[in-house]
Amino acid sequence: MPFVVMITGIPGVGKSTITRLALQRTAIKFRLVNFGDLMFEEALKAGLVKHRDGMRKLDPMVQKKLQLGAARRVVEMAEREPVLLDTHATIRTPMGYLLGFPREVIETIKPNYIVIIEATPSEILGRRLRDLKRDRDVETEEQIQRHQDLNRAAAVSYAMHSDALIKVIENHEDKGLEEAVNELIEVLNLAVREYD
Ligand code: AMP
Ligand code: MG
Repeated sequence: MPFVVMITGIPGVGKSTITRLALQRTAIKFRLVNFGDLMFEEALKAGLVKHRDGMRKLDPMVQKKLQLGAARRVVEMAEREPVLLDTHATIRTPMGYLLGFPREVIETIKPNYIVIIEATPSEILGRRLRDLKRDRDVETEEQIQRHQDLNRAAAVSYAMHSDALIKVIENHEDKGLEEAVNELIEVLNLAVREYD
């Protein structure tokens, strides 16, 4: 059976950092897969975009095709080894919020766990301002809060189509990162026991 732990959180929440540290500090053999990378490989090949931050501006139906293609590749990998999937519950696009996992896509992946990483809007805003490598949208704290609320709602609908369990992990300034990493390690330990 394919085994997938999905890790979500809005841009700037520290998702990739926590995930990297958690994997470095455990012997658990999860293959780290970035869903955006898989989509981007296809989008680049098809000449649809030049930059990964251009994908969210594509026609929603085109994005859905990329999601489905990426999902099929995730399942192939997850049949061989447990996959930790770095991705987004919803994507803020110029047209509106886009579901990261529309029904067909979530039913293809059927994750076992959905982890949501959260922080306060002001913490997220601060981290975004410090990360100038990315072409991030400028948002207010209210917009960030709304996006996090929508992501929780989206996670519930994904659990409905997959039987996944949902875990919320907070990543606050100072000691928060260490705690968040330890919490993720706990989830992975728990998840992998189910897999064995
Ligand atoms: P990231 O590096 O995780 O911020 O992802 C880069 C880009 O990949 C995002 O801005 C989205 O355009 C795309 N992406 C990642 N996960 C998904 C998803 N589940 N559905 C649609 N697009 C996604
Ligand atoms: Mg990331």
